[in-house]
Amino acid sequence: MTSNVGCTPADKGILIVLSGPSGVGKGTVCKALRSCAPDIVYSVSATTRAPRQGEVDGVNYFFKTREQFQQMIAQDQMLEWAEYVGNYYGTPRKFVQDTLNAGKDIILEIEVQGALKVKQKFPEGVFIFLLPPSLPELESRIVGRGTESEETIRSRMSVAVDEIAMMEHYDYAIVNDQVDLACSRIRSILTAEHCRKDRMVSKIQHWMAEVKK
Ligand code: 5GP
Repeated sequence: MTSNVGCTPADKGILIVLSGPSGVGKGTVCKALRSCAPDIVYSVSATTRAPRQGEVDGVNYFFKTREQFQQMIAQDQMLEWAEYVGNYYGTPRKFVQDTLNAGKDIILEIEVQGALKVKQKFPEGVFIFLLPPSLPELESRIVGRGTESEETIRSRMSVAVDEIAMMEHYDYAIVNDQVDLACSRIRSILTAEHCRKDRMVSKIQHWMAEVKK
């Protein structure tokens, strides 16, 4: 009968996009996920933004000059990229594709324009929008970070309001009121997504075909 079921959607990893306004805590939630969901692989983005204190090249971001970044775009190395508050941010394509093909789930922590571009290429991805408990709380989180100028804070808040309006394009929305709760909600979503019948259909069809041979 059967053994080699071939590579079906059920064998591939799930692409998870975690998005939401700047300051909502995407980075903190991702960091917490590393311990509560260690099987998820993290995509490291490229950016032209200057490193913040403590950020390490190749760990937090691949820090690039504008010229280097533009070259990556020209060489079609980016799955998506966007300009955000004066800097480029983008997801290197190869790592994402290799991870999915290896059957591992990967998470992209990106802003909304980029997320929508990913959705065009990977409609089967799982798109999660992280919301702040309120707008004043969002502002106080950005201010509390202490890394942004007053002008950047204003730009980020104004972009945030537009970004929240894009939530309708996502599959799930999670309020980041408590980091551990947000993590467990993401894990629950992922568990449910792995059980979607659509992922299994081609595998089952393959089984049927093998049995009828
Ligand atoms: P930050 O400068 O605070 O690290 O990031 C600014 C925004 O860029 C955040 O909303 C973050 O999620 C987003 N971002 C980080 N990496 C990427 C990426 O690869 N692509 C896109 N489109 N946005 C990203």
